[in-house]
Amino acid sequence: MSVYLDHAATSPPRREVLEAVWPYLTQVTGNPSSSHEAGRAAKAGLDAARQVIADVLGARPGEVVLTSGGTEADNLAVTGIATANPRGRHVVVSAIEHPAVLETAFALRGDGFTVDVVGVDGDGLLDLDALAAVLRPDTTLVSVMYANNEIGTVQPLAEISRLCRALGVPLHTDAVQAAGHLPLDVAELGVDALSASAHKFGGLRGAGFLWVRGVVPLVPLLHGGGQERGRRSGTTDVASAVGTAVALHAAASTREAEVARLTGLRDRLVDGVLAGVPGARLTGHRTRRLPGHASFCFAGVGGETVLAELEQVGIVCSSGSACSADSDDASHVLLATGLDPDVARTAVRFTLGPTTTASDVDAVLDALPGAVRAASR
Ligand code: PLP
Repeated sequence: MSVYLDHAATSPPRREVLEAVWPYLTQVTGNPSSSHEAGRAAKAGLDAARQVIADVLGARPGEVVLTSGGTEADNLAVTGIATANPRGRHVVVSAIEHPAVLETAFALRGDGFTVDVVGVDGDGLLDLDALAAVLRPDTTLVSVMYANNEIGTVQPLAEISRLCRALGVPLHTDAVQAAGHLPLDVAELGVDALSASAHKFGGLRGAGFLWVRGVVPLVPLLHGGGQERGRRSGTTDVASAVGTAVALHAAASTREAEVARLTGLRDRLVDGVLAGVPGARLTGHRTRRLPGHASFCFAGVGGETVLAELEQVGIVCSSGSACSADSDDASHVLLATGLDPDVARTAVRFTLGPTTTASDVDAVLDALPGAVRAASR
């Protein structure tokens, strides 16, 4: 594998993460809940990691709940906040949420909740008027993702927040794709809860966190020893938490330069594909999108066949989201943007990351026209 352009599926751990994690796997191996010296050493590492994460968010460390990744953080946010809120049994999600949010919201119907799904426009931007229209006095949660995994579109969270705040409704955002690439100051974003997953920004797979504003009540999903202030029981994985903190801090410290670099590469890729591949169409917003995200449909061509052709020349990308890559169904995200199901099934996504170079982009621009031609035979 020579050209890896699937960083939205997962991005390799940063070197500094591996170095920081190693002592917590080999020397500082106590349980952070133990009161002896080994436990105290582990707890010190955990506390420091939590503080670093909180600093990047502009939040308090006690508001950070460490989880097994984005899926758990999303499940905890949606179920935990919606059911703890005494206002009623109504939740609102966008039509393009990741299944970790969408399916969790739908599962609440079994507990008597009503779920409203708010649509997006052709670029994947939330319909703000439709959101305003469905908010009710008994709405217990709104969940709208920060940036979409399939089409890269970045939502206007501050505007969404204004609508929610006017009615006192808590706003959760799935920032799994945004974390490491976009600003994460929770006060500026105006959100009340935010999910992130470490392996998307150079941490370890199977690690992440949910930040929940201190005043927002949260019912836990996992019951047991009462770790994470009773919000997520289970022995805390200190090494993973350290890795998450180091990765988040590294990404935040280099963010502006890396965003400029990735945006330049992305725009070259988008412009080159639109100019060089007949029938190519960009999905998602042209500019309000993740810096390293370029996603297309190629009319009349199976996305999976294009992927197979590209893989033969050493280029790895994806047909949309890694999670729905096995499904023949057209993506709910692309359908929500108004694409015809036949067109939506032709999706190909290139996602760039820290290891991506200009020659990787050139390799795609060289190979893609032939791959699409071969796939349309
Ligand atoms: N939310 C979004 C937007 C994602 O892209 C993903 C994974 O791709 C998840 C949630 C789930 O995260 P995890 O794989 O850490 O469980």
